[in-house]
Amino acid sequence: MIEVEHLTKHYGKVKAVEDISFNVAEGELFALLGPNGAGKSTTIKMLTTLLKPTSGKLILNGHDVAKDPDSVRSSFGIVFQDPSLDTDLTAAENMKLHAVMYNVAKGEVNPRIEELLRLVGLWDRRNSMVKTFSGGMKRRLEIARGLLHHPKVLFLDEPTLGLDTQTRNLLWQYIDSLSREKNMTILFTTHYLEEAETNANRIAIIDHGKLLRIGSSAELTAETKTTSLEEAYLALTGRTIRDEEVDPHESWRAIRRARNMR
Ligand code: ADP
Repeated sequence: MIEVEHLTKHYGKVKAVEDISFNVAEGELFALLGPNGAGKSTTIKMLTTLLKPTSGKLILNGHDVAKDPDSVRSSFGIVFQDPSLDTDLTAAENMKLHAVMYNVAKGEVNPRIEELLRLVGLWDRRNSMVKTFSGGMKRRLEIARGLLHHPKVLFLDEPTLGLDTQTRNLLWQYIDSLSREKNMTILFTTHYLEEAETNANRIAIIDHGKLLRIGSSAELTAETKTTSLEEAYLALTGRTIRDEEVDPHESWRAIRRARNMR
């Protein structure tokens, strides 16, 4: 469902992604892990047509990302780290707007909105303006909205950042069911390694733009002679703290602004 071949992206002298190759099968739940600045966001931006690779080939749902970006765009959904809700609308209105934008079949819109708003605990607040919501509520609504059109491939960039344990558990139950029951292919990033350990079928660990290892949590721990994914991850990527040269939230915002202006 996702084919990445010799993907490379250089920003001037910065080698953000360096000759990365991997495949993700249909229905697979796939984690992309790496320290800050490893190249995760850059890889997702290239897969979602927001950024052109320096070299390499990307195929998504059978479509070449460089040659057929429109077909690629209609094949995926994405949940960003940074909320992009309309705060002057209610929760239900934000959901309906997204359903229209993504051509969700008429008969399915209301049942799906109810299912998702109940899932994230916002059904009782569906008629409240989003500007009255707390940060956590906005985040939950953003995720519910990203799942509304059941795309073939779903990209989740740190979907549970800043959420409490209860909400994270509920969301993972739902994400798991999307991959198992709807055969949705899901690629996610997270800094909560136990989320990848529990949920991902396979995990790719990248650092300094390079793919270090790929495999199941059991394979990665066996290969590194460790007992948990976190230990395997630290064995592969080291224990030093990374500084980011570019704030990834800021670059997402810039991309969204550019998209909205079109
Ligand atoms: P991650 O998502 O894993 O934190 P990124 O893909 O955001 O990593 O960044 C990979 C590298 O590319 C980092 O060194 C980062 O500073 C650099 N980078 C990201 N975006 C830009 C940009 N627009 N211009 C220059 N360098 C960038």
